[in-house]
Amino acid sequence: MRFGAIRGYTLLKQRLIHIAKTQKLPHAQLFWGPEGNASLSLVLAFIAYLNCQHRLEEDACGQCSSCLKMQKLAHPDVKFVFPTSATKQFTGKDAVSTNLMQNWRAFLHEYPYGQDSDWSYYLGSENKQLSISKEDAKDIMQAISLKAFESTYKVILIWLPEYLHVAAANSLLKAIEEPPPHTLFLLVSIHPSNVLSTIRSRTQQVHIPAFSDKELANMLVQRYPLKQDQIAQIALLANGNFNKALKLVHNTKGDYLEHFKHWMRLCYTYNLTQLVAQAVSFQEMSRAGQRDFLGYSLHVLREALVLHFAQEKLTRASTVEQEFAKKLRQTLTHQQLKTWIFWLNQAYYYVERHINPKILYLDLSLKIARTFRP
Ligand SMILES: [Zn+2]
Repeated sequence: MRFGAIRGYTLLKQRLIHIAKTQKLPHAQLFWGPEGNASLSLVLAFIAYLNCQHRLEEDACGQCSSCLKMQKLAHPDVKFVFPTSATKQFTGKDAVSTNLMQNWRAFLHEYPYGQDSDWSYYLGSENKQLSISKEDAKDIMQAISLKAFESTYKVILIWLPEYLHVAAANSLLKAIEEPPPHTLFLLVSIHPSNVLSTIRSRTQQVHIPAFSDKELANMLVQRYPLKQDQIAQIALLANGNFNKALKLVHNTKGDYLEHFKHWMRLCYTYNLTQLVAQAVSFQEMSRAGQRDFLGYSLHVLREALVLHFAQEKLTRASTVEQEFAKKLRQTLTHQQLKTWIFWLNQAYYYVERHINPKILYLDLSLKIARTFRP
């Protein structure tokens, strides 16, 4: 991974490059930010830059032997540590990062912005607790006892230090506080408040924000032949989380705005047969899909509600969404819109609690339909 392959984060990249150049490197840093952002990618690019043999002004060369090894996540001077759980192949003390490295590489290839639940699912250990064990801590101590083989720095990258077992964390405290010369601890966390305070307090923290809607949309455009409105909808629902955006791309068969408009037309014309058919197709969506569709519908309704007060350029709605929101605004009163939002919020809550989706959707449709015929 090189800085050039990561969208946005210009200032942060400059800062990391500057630190690397001045060689005033903090020996332990905790990079943290929300799920689906570029935390891990940026740290990997930072390590590649640190160890590159032919650094360019603002990026690693991508071609030297160090860069090539980093691309494969197989650099002898970089120790990768991540939470694990027992797998079919490795159980007990053998379920450590070193043994599961091949799985982790394959996982990151498939889910470059994946999070703990994806990793757990990938390992096939959904119901088992992930953790970074004492054995992993032993491996870290072993790694830092050796000098770097071919680079200036020995790097310990800990992905999700929130999973450090207390005993493992305790055995690392001294090393993190005062590592051997040219040894760096780089921690990448999604929930820094869950990282043991003894570890957290020994690190310098670097906040890495979520992607902006625009960055996320640009990344999607590069990868998928989607319509502009679909991209805008996905970017909005993903809320800066590229991991979620990728899942939405794979789950979204249609277009949420078209679905929502069609739904409203059916309610308006009180087309009961088709409303039942739609309720059936709603039932067939995944639970995440049902939540996303309701979440999206809520977004359009809220737009309609605030349209009157907010400046158009301040809203997150696209032009076509604004047009539809305007129509809704002309048809419904302020109070009616508020009631709909209340109903949809309620439905969203019930979806999470596994209420029969068909009945839920039909009930919601009929309530909305009745609004049109006082
Ligand atoms: Zn290089």
